[in-house]
Amino acid sequence: MYFVDVGQGDCTFIITPQNKKILIDGGGSLTDDFDVGKKTLIPYLLDRGCNLLDYVIISHLDTDHVGGIITVLEELKVGNVIISKQFEDSENYHKFLDIVKEKNIKVNVVEAGTRINIEENLYFDVLWPNSKQVISKNSINNNALVCKLIYKNFTMLFTGDIEKESENILISQYSNTDKLRSNVLKVAHHGSKTSSTQNFLDLVKPKIALIGVGENNNFGHPNQEVIKRLKNCGTKIFRTDKNGEISIKVNSKGIIKTNKVI
Ligand SMILES: [Zn+2]
Repeated sequence: MYFVDVGQGDCTFIITPQNKKILIDGGGSLTDDFDVGKKTLIPYLLDRGCNLLDYVIISHLDTDHVGGIITVLEELKVGNVIISKQFEDSENYHKFLDIVKEKNIKVNVVEAGTRINIEENLYFDVLWPNSKQVISKNSINNNALVCKLIYKNFTMLFTGDIEKESENILISQYSNTDKLRSNVLKVAHHGSKTSSTQNFLDLVKPKIALIGVGENNNFGHPNQEVIKRLKNCGTKIFRTDKNGEISIKVNSKGIIKTNKVI
């Protein structure tokens, strides 16, 4: 699995034991003059011999997550797109709908309770959003897709850009279960102070945290309090602005090896 440095934004590329290729989010630029898809993401995937993605998973439609994905959908072969139920209209949503229609790409719309089976021993459980508990505050972020990758003993939680409102619902729903508990956490909302509350981290108990964050970004991401909370949990932190691309290899026993990719 590779947590890719796309500047501002999140992007994870997974190669499964049966060689299925999965892309979760695809970064994006906040300025119109830099096409992350064309200049960073497509060359990155082609370099790894990947011109076909079995699954593209979109956490939400903000440009820093989906900007590069639109180009990927246009230029590479994509088997399936997984997207959560959308509760707000946006320009990116229309772009997305146009391109999947034009290229006849299969779209699976999921919400809490869906299991996405990828192959034997490897699946995602969708924990959020929930159409019975739609959050109106910062709706696109707070109703982002939260899913947990499960491969034998290994677990990783993808949180998109959810904020404390959705974290609180997840906490109350899953506080007496191990549903949120994960070896690796893709830290919500680039380590923003809006997210990663202590109670949420106490349930996830991550050994490793990944933060996708642009160097010297204008948002103050990641927030120092969030970093402190993660450190207090004994979590090892990797961030794309300091570490660049991060690779995580998991063997069949669930043992994790992390490497900074040079
Ligand atoms: Zn974001």
